[in-house]
Amino acid sequence: MKNLFKFLSIVFLLPSVISFAQSKDSLMVAAIIKEANENSQLKNIAHELFDDIGPRLVGTPKMQQAHDWAVSKYTSWGITARNEKWGEWRGWERGVSHIDMVQPWIKTLEGTQLAWCPSTGGKSITAELIILADVADSLAFIQWLPNVKGKFVMISMMQPTGRPDYNWTEFGTKESVEKMKKERTEQTDAWRKRISKTGLSNKNLALALEKAGAAGIVGSNWSAGFGVNKIFGASTTKIPTIDIALEDYGLLYRLLESGKNPKISVRTDSKELGMVPTFNTIAEIKGTEKPDEYVMLSAHFDSWDGATGATDNGTGTLVMMETMRILKILYPNPKRTILVGHWGSEEQGLNGSRAFVEDHPDIVKNMQVLFNQDNGTGRVVNIGGAGFLHSYDYLGRWLARVPSGYKQELETRFPGSPAGGGSDNASFVAAGVPAIGLGSNTWLYFSYTWHTNRDTYDKIVFDDVRNNAILTAILVYIASEDPDKASREKIILPANQRTGEPGKWPEQRSPTRKGGVD
Ligand SMILES: [Zn+2]
Repeated sequence: MKNLFKFLSIVFLLPSVISFAQSKDSLMVAAIIKEANENSQLKNIAHELFDDIGPRLVGTPKMQQAHDWAVSKYTSWGITARNEKWGEWRGWERGVSHIDMVQPWIKTLEGTQLAWCPSTGGKSITAELIILADVADSLAFIQWLPNVKGKFVMISMMQPTGRPDYNWTEFGTKESVEKMKKERTEQTDAWRKRISKTGLSNKNLALALEKAGAAGIVGSNWSAGFGVNKIFGASTTKIPTIDIALEDYGLLYRLLESGKNPKISVRTDSKELGMVPTFNTIAEIKGTEKPDEYVMLSAHFDSWDGATGATDNGTGTLVMMETMRILKILYPNPKRTILVGHWGSEEQGLNGSRAFVEDHPDIVKNMQVLFNQDNGTGRVVNIGGAGFLHSYDYLGRWLARVPSGYKQELETRFPGSPAGGGSDNASFVAAGVPAIGLGSNTWLYFSYTWHTNRDTYDKIVFDDVRNNAILTAILVYIASEDPDKASREKIILPANQRTGEPGKWPEQRSPTRKGGVD
């Protein structure tokens, strides 16, 4: 009787249960949209994180300041948060960079020291320049090396144009565009050969120049847009390594080639801080019905330090923080536990997220899904199933609950393929977690903001970031409420096109736990 009653009640109650669930979901979706639109905290978070704190390079005091800020921000929203130590890194703090041309005329140059650049000891170094010679081979390079003594060595090619290709295409004749591209390709190839003929890697070249008594290393890593250079790390241990903007680099290069003997004056302040601990910030809204199953949000927290990392990965960070804030207000007792990971040291090889995967096998094993965002400020327009056979079933179902206005240009790929790297979702995919990358439209991300000196607050498109926070909050809510656990069955990967070998799922890899010391 009892069983029959249960059977009947299922048969008769099911339609009303479904419509109740649907209306409950629609109410929640509407509430999420309302909170995100009417009480958005995105601009406040962005100002505090990018303007007040700034760049977040691994091992710097600013990275630590950001982690502490994130914990206190979450705490102020009533969300439990902690910093989890996963390793240590060479501690370094950026100070001022002053770079001036002092001969043949005076001009303050646009440039900066690279990350981990040695200090010039509170003084300016004034010296002539020399262009890395085009030598025949490594032996000839060793013979040429004494020429660098006391000089700044220019190790980058002079770009033939400071205009990006889209600008040439818009205004140039077809012939001039082709000519420019041909010249640039030839020059780029020749410069690559110039470096390789020294017989040294970029790092060892810098160290050889330093050992030979160079005053400093001067490069220009143009990012193929107006006024943008990529700013990475220095390899030198005593002399400064600086990047100079394309325009000023070209000026020095041409003056040097025409025998005008330019001189520059360089001061870089920085501090070595020894080894310092590195962290991930983890925040959590505890689940009620299935507290040991997890829906996780993910965005790396660190950045390069040529600018303030506003879109790499500031905007991913904003999306995840705003999502947590909204869910804590509207969905404080989720079915599953909702976690967010703000990872350290993604830029040096997904280190924070790899450490989390390694350190928390119990959480990883019971993770329903993870959503990661890390390609700029744009609206999410690409979502794939990461190579999980049944991803269409659950992701498709969850996405169906998102109102059309928040997925207008969305393209989906099912079952998709597993990320082997690129961002932190790869760390989780390798461990078998359906870890989904939320792919943004580009806003010229790769040329203008990614790792550049122009990755700043003003590049944020807040409407798009708000759109993404709404989309993410809805997906997290629906994924948490899903009666079923998402399947982890993987597709059989296609054979490697080059080798013909069977396709292999990406392997879980260990992080670098002690960094910046090699
Ligand atoms: Zn990134």
